[in-house]
Amino acid sequence: MFSENTKKYGCIEVICGSMFSGKTEELIRRLKRAQFANQKIQIFKPTVDNRFSETDVVSHDLHSFPCTPIKDPERMLKVDEDVEVIGIDEAQFFGESIVGVCQKLAEMGKRVIIAGLDMDYMGKPFGPMPALMAIAEDVQKVHAICVRCGNLANYSHRLSGSRKLVVIGEKDIYEPLCRRCYNLALEEDKAAKAEEKAAK
Ligand code: ZN
Repeated sequence: MFSENTKKYGCIEVICGSMFSGKTEELIRRLKRAQFANQKIQIFKPTVDNRFSETDVVSHDLHSFPCTPIKDPERMLKVDEDVEVIGIDEAQFFGESIVGVCQKLAEMGKRVIIAGLDMDYMGKPFGPMPALMAIAEDVQKVHAICVRCGNLANYSHRLSGSRKLVVIGEKDIYEPLCRRCYNLALEEDKAAKAEEKAAK
């Protein structure tokens, strides 16, 4: 059973899922509860994610929380001593060094709550997320709703033509799909590409 009673010892929690699964909302919910418990919190996110605001964690439904954009995960080790809870949003965009940093933070007695995409648009484990999930005390998978059939969705299907992996999720670029609809969509994409090629 997941327990929030971690005041004395450090720990690592991971919240992950597809686009539009409510990862950031769940992160903010936990951080708000820590604030109610009079715990000092600090939030970090990678600088690559600046879709709305440079200084706020911004979720898709615009509940926001002040946050520090950073390039290098090592920066988190310089957090004030009295900070008890550290939130990390969009953790999938950090390099592998975030794994060791989170271990150190937990060993310093901090509660580290990490939100991030578990898979990229190709359905592959995303960046440092698999390792973070492995070292975490608690992992919660949150789900979007499949826009094609209404089942729980855990894939982010890319609708745009961009080949860049770091495309920030908006409804016109990605759609959340369940396993079955995601595989059908990939087949459709393949057929469409073949058709395009044949037309040239
Ligand atoms: Zn579906």
